[in-house]
Amino acid sequence: MHKRLYIPGPVEVRQDVLDKMATPMIGHRTKEASALQQSISEKLQKVMGTKNKIVLSTSSGSGLMEGAVRCFTAKKAAVFSIGAFGDRWYKMCTANGVPADLFQSELGQITTPEMIDNALKTGEYDLITITQNETSTGIRNPMEKLAEVYKKYPDVIVCVDTVSSMGGDYIPVDELGIDVCITSTQKCLGLPPGMSIASVTDRAIEKAKTIPNRGLYFDYVELVKFVDEKPYQYPSTPSESHMFALDYQLDRILEEGVMNRYERHVKLANIVRDWARKNCELYSDPDNLSNTVTCITNTTGIPFAELNKAMQAKGYLISNGYGALKDKTFRIAHMADTTEEEINSLLKDLEETIAELKAQTKA
Ligand SMILES: *Cc1c(COP(=O)(O)O)cnc(C)c1O
Repeated sequence: MHKRLYIPGPVEVRQDVLDKMATPMIGHRTKEASALQQSISEKLQKVMGTKNKIVLSTSSGSGLMEGAVRCFTAKKAAVFSIGAFGDRWYKMCTANGVPADLFQSELGQITTPEMIDNALKTGEYDLITITQNETSTGIRNPMEKLAEVYKKYPDVIVCVDTVSSMGGDYIPVDELGIDVCITSTQKCLGLPPGMSIASVTDRAIEKAKTIPNRGLYFDYVELVKFVDEKPYQYPSTPSESHMFALDYQLDRILEEGVMNRYERHVKLANIVRDWARKNCELYSDPDNLSNTVTCITNTTGIPFAELNKAMQAKGYLISNGYGALKDKTFRIAHMADTTEEEINSLLKDLEETIAELKAQTKA
């Protein structure tokens, strides 16, 4: 039996989108390939609210995250972490010999404007990384407030992880002054895992050209060169299957409308939060909750493994906590093409399952 996915990636993919993955291959150096990549790029610019260049990567988002700190840091990176994925960005710096400092918030809390200001006013850093939506704790950074601060430092390259939010949450890249905005296909965009996307400013690329040892596969200069000169191609052989499906799915996303999609995600998030307040507790800062994934403190007394097993038998997959929160919390994703009806039926079955397991424990 297929278990419907309510984990924070990969997400459930609609059958018509899956079918597009089976489109016959084309030559990757043909005009057809260029037209496909150009079409994807122009649609993504609309979804992301940017005029910046779009690069694709046949890798999950981690590849472009690693490439970003390597390509755009000349002095030192300031990594602002609000959980596991921010910490990962710091590990990518150290693993690549990129000088970096880690600025961690308490789990479940945001990066504050003061943290960014205090770091940047030292003049030590020429790149910052921010996690817009931290999937491990279900918390969302207040980007408008953070942007007010980092915009005071125009020489700093701003890299933002929107892997678990772009295509669901509202993230106007150009308004927010984001130089490098990274996302993956398998979360809010509603596609299979295996491709990732970044928007990148010209000034970031000009800077990268002066930086040695950028690597090759995730070198943004190389990726942009193939967009500019070929044009709209990929340095090696891209996952064409993803590109066919992405081009198709972006039409669906634009048909729904970026703001409507955002509002649907907010609505779903509110339903899940209400359920969590009634049946358990919310883990993170209530003023900055994620619109795409909810992290719930498990106060049911039932070990999550047991709950998960019972839910799987009913055809659902939800997620345990991440890292340090593995046993303490569980997570429900409300991403991509999920409907209100689907979320309501998941939550109803979850509530019933908790009641059944509690009754068994008592018996
Ligand atoms: C999933 C996720 C990642 C990792 O992305 P991959 O596409 O799996 O490499 C990074 N950051 C956040 C916030 C995520 O949710």
